[in-house]
Amino acid sequence: MAPTDSQNSPIVVIGFGPVAARLVDSLLPAVRSGALSLTVIGDEPHPAYNRVLVADLGVGRTTASDIALADRDELEAAGVVLRLGVCVRRVDRARQLVHLSDDSAVAYGRLVFATGARPVVPNLARLNPDPQLPIRLPAGVITLRNLDDAATLHRAVQGRRRVVILGGGILGLEAALAAADEGARVTVVHHGPHTLGRSIDANAGKVLAAALRARGIRVAANSRSTGVLLGQPDGGTPASAAGPDSGTRAPASFSALELDDGTTICGDLLVLSCGVRARTEVAAGAGLATGRGILVDHGLQAHHDPQVFAMGDCAEVRCLDEQCADCRGSNGPSGLIGPGWRQAEWLAGVLLAGVLPAGAQPPGAQPTGAQPAGPRAALAPEQPPVIVLKARGVDVAAAGNVAAEPFDEPAEGADPGHAAGSFPAAPPLSVSTWADPEHGQYLKMATRAGVLEGFVSVGMPRAGAELVLLFERGAELPADRSELLRLDAAGMPAGAGGAPDSTVCRCAGVDRQTIAAAVVNGCGTVAEVSAATRAGTGCGGCHGEVRALIEQHFQPAPA
Ligand SMILES: Cc1cc2nc3c(=O)[nH]c(=O)nc-3n(C[C@H](O)[C@H](O)[C@H](O)COP(=O)(O)OP(=O)(O)OC[C@H]3O[C@@H](n4cnc5c(N)ncnc54)[C@H](O)[C@@H]3O)c2cc1C
Repeated sequence: MAPTDSQNSPIVVIGFGPVAARLVDSLLPAVRSGALSLTVIGDEPHPAYNRVLVADLGVGRTTASDIALADRDELEAAGVVLRLGVCVRRVDRARQLVHLSDDSAVAYGRLVFATGARPVVPNLARLNPDPQLPIRLPAGVITLRNLDDAATLHRAVQGRRRVVILGGGILGLEAALAAADEGARVTVVHHGPHTLGRSIDANAGKVLAAALRARGIRVAANSRSTGVLLGQPDGGTPASAAGPDSGTRAPASFSALELDDGTTICGDLLVLSCGVRARTEVAAGAGLATGRGILVDHGLQAHHDPQVFAMGDCAEVRCLDEQCADCRGSNGPSGLIGPGWRQAEWLAGVLLAGVLPAGAQPPGAQPTGAQPAGPRAALAPEQPPVIVLKARGVDVAAAGNVAAEPFDEPAEGADPGHAAGSFPAAPPLSVSTWADPEHGQYLKMATRAGVLEGFVSVGMPRAGAELVLLFERGAELPADRSELLRLDAAGMPAGAGGAPDSTVCRCAGVDRQTIAAAVVNGCGTVAEVSAATRAGTGCGGCHGEVRALIEQHFQPAPA
């Protein structure tokens, strides 16, 4: 077969995380047919896996094979060149060459950055002593990002060890709840007065704190950590100063976290959960524009280089044209798998243009309910992010601004009664709350002209799910807010609430209708629905709802 343009223009992907895996999946038929040449370079030794489930793997709730997203043999048999366990050190854009840590180089025609993000390592004494050197964490300190981290957590959980989690954000809490459920003794250490401090209000924080305590989790609030103490795993004296490990002794391992009030929190494993930062260093070294991520336009093309693209956790979608309507509201990388997967599907369509016969459907555009519809599909969500805690028996959902209280004075100019001049005044913010601390329930809804601007729900899974839906749609709340409370009343049927086109799986963007159709067509388990629709293949937070829809379908019809 005569070489095509695309064969002369090999595609090289840097990074093999879940977003790259989706791109590779979508390009695979074209590679198999010989229409595309594809090389994937990943510095982890294994093919891509579902990183979202690393904590579940760490507590023993899933297996490495269950979270695998790619099969090395299958990809190589199709013609994909995999370079795993090697790192891209440098990109020479003038010569279109990628230089690797094993001193080899790979030529590209089109280059895709899918380098993801790396966890933030806080500046703590004895954790990162030399700012000039790459960070090497001491034994007993992990960041919970990869399979090695999961294996370390697994050993601690199996041994019912003391796990200290630094950071009270969503990932820290999910890991804490899962580890405590599986038998570890867990302490969460965080700055503010309550966990999820950026997303929920103080009252929700109190209800959540009680739920954490009820699960045996110790919470050290308002705590500023200053350093770690290292000791011998056999219980030797903690090292009070950094120093090389000497002789045949085992390497010093984490033994305690020091706080600024002079107290310490002892433990066997420290999990750092202090946020992530996009991996932009290789792109920046190649002279590409970077901000909070690698800067790309809404077609995912790097600024000033049409041969280079970026997607997923490393990409910041922001056009050079500041007035671009498609990029308005873009706010750095989303850090979420759903937008990354949609970007990968979109980019596959771009890379396949001119390769597929006219009229052929790009393989990325599978019937997932999340087909790229246009340039906007490549964007990160423009709304403030919705957070949903994934934990057994602790339900938290929140979004938007939840600081206002029901009896706050309206802001100047917000109340039509105070309108001055010819500017129409913004309608006032109206706040409704419901609190039942004894039963672990709390709800706050802040609306303007009936439309949600922010909400938080604790211990009320169905009201929370309904509010997520209303928030994402910008829809009006029922005038009688107590309708939402009734969703969590005892005796409500499974699967109640939710319009047919409401999204059930937010990672893969699959709605109720698509899942219901799969069930009608014979899918009787969550796994079967996942295989048919991709629902539930991301964080797994929707498995309960998918199960409820299956049960609803198979319920005997009332006589
Ligand atoms: C514990 C945990 C829980 C999470 N939970 C959720 C959740 O519930 N919902 C959600 O939406 N998201 C969640 N996330 C975030 C989600 O995992 C990320 O959004 C997703 O992994 C992004 O995928 P990516 O492929 O863009 O980047 P990554 O997953 O970071 O993969 C990038 C890959 O590129 C490699 N790489 C980087 N630089 C180089 C280089 N120079 N050379 C070679 N290889 C390189 C990296 O080693 C890595 O393998 C969670 C993440 C974690 C860690």
